[in-house]
Amino acid sequence: MKVLIIGAVAGGANTATRLRRIDRNARIIVFERGTHVSFATCGLPYYIGGKVKDIDSLVLMTPQAFLENYDIHVRTSSNVKHIDRANKTVTVEDLRNGGDYTESYDKLVIATGTEPISPPIPGFESPKVFQLHTIPDAERLAKFMRKTKPASAGIMGGGAIGLETAENLKLLGIDVTIIEMAAQLMSPLDPDMAKIVLSYTKKQNIKVLLNNGVKNIEDKDNGLAIKLEKGEMETDMLIVGVGVRPNGELAKNAGLDVNARGAIITDKRMRTSDPDIFAVGDAVQTYNHITGKPTGVPLAGPANRQARTAAENIAGWESEYAGTQGTGILKFFDMTVAFTGLTEREAGKNGIDFDKVIIKALPCAEYYPGGRAMTIKTVFDKTNGRILGAQVVGFEGADKRNDALAMAIRMGATYKDLAEVDLAYSPPYGSPKDPVNIIGQVIGNFMKKQTKV
Ligand code: FAD
Repeated sequence: MKVLIIGAVAGGANTATRLRRIDRNARIIVFERGTHVSFATCGLPYYIGGKVKDIDSLVLMTPQAFLENYDIHVRTSSNVKHIDRANKTVTVEDLRNGGDYTESYDKLVIATGTEPISPPIPGFESPKVFQLHTIPDAERLAKFMRKTKPASAGIMGGGAIGLETAENLKLLGIDVTIIEMAAQLMSPLDPDMAKIVLSYTKKQNIKVLLNNGVKNIEDKDNGLAIKLEKGEMETDMLIVGVGVRPNGELAKNAGLDVNARGAIITDKRMRTSDPDIFAVGDAVQTYNHITGKPTGVPLAGPANRQARTAAENIAGWESEYAGTQGTGILKFFDMTVAFTGLTEREAGKNGIDFDKVIIKALPCAEYYPGGRAMTIKTVFDKTNGRILGAQVVGFEGADKRNDALAMAIRMGATYKDLAEVDLAYSPPYGSPKDPVNIIGQVIGNFMKKQTKV
């Protein structure tokens, strides 16, 4: 069997290695139009901030290591231009030496990821405007910073990448302003939880302009003059992180089904509308684990798990992807912002009869020094007490509560399971009644009609 894979980062690289582990004989070729394969995109903001000193450490594998360790052929600087489904071939453009060639397949995997959204703003092409999506993007920004030693930076977009970049620049002593079109930072949170993040951001002396946008960018000798929807600002550079769009064009041109955003529609086995073509990662539409409705969440965890599913099906195993739950986490200075499952907003949109509890709890025993309170919002189904989603904003221990709740949601747990679960306790780590137990007990009070939420 000959398997071609387009894209060599989280989705493509993992499909290739999983397939090799379960099929020793398949001929596997991976095409990557960039110069790097299997790189840790998630580490780019930390390279900008200097925490990751060597950008090469973000490159997890090389084409040579793929060949030597896995007998997988990876061709970089190779842009797949066209899929001919009738003849089961792809056309590849060799970006290094020039010229096109075709390669045939028995099974094809599309793992083409996303492109950062580039808003059509006059002046966007200025060399002082940056995006942070690839290693060359990060190298360009780092080079600019080394050369010009910027004192100020605007960050367009107040999502996870915007905040991670803001932290890293602020720690270098740069004056940072975040410009966000929405009324809140961190769109995966409900507005009440996002407010906690906003006030913490301001405490770090980062300016935040909400309900505002960039209208025009003018390149001046000493920086950028930016016209905003409301007001104007001057800054030495602008970093744009306003979201991504799925790279589904190749699939669409091949006549595969894509959704309105251009994401490639897949079934539970990660098959596209052509049974010999699979698709995984940020480029796809899959389904939400809780609602069963179509979704696409551009995160590395889903890409890895989808890759495993696709590889297993290609190898002839019957394997299904369990759906995306939308679990995510952000470190922002000392703060941890984590979320999983449905927000209040999403539960409402899905017509679920839900309610929510918000608790504040310490990560350790009350008398143990240093504990800082976390806030946990939990969304649950009022009809049966099932846990639907959680958002945790806090410091130490916030990550483990979010992950405990993510697992609970995955297992279809109700408030009773949270109230009863036997969690580890000693004073530095929690209390005999862990915040997760307390959430279950509080929801229980409501479900048993003893109290109002
Ligand atoms: P991608 O990583 O986008 O890879 C797709 C590859 O396909 C690209 O290398 C592209 O060059 C190649 N390609 C596209 N079209 C073609 C073609 N026609 N021919 C050949 N090659 C092609 N996720 C998390 O879960 N946690 C994090 O902390 C996190 N941090 C992030 C920080 C940053 C700055 C960024 C940008 C992303 C972050 N992500 C994070 C998201 C995560 O990186 C993605 O979810 C993951 O990389 C998706 O993998 P993928 O293989 O689907 O797509």
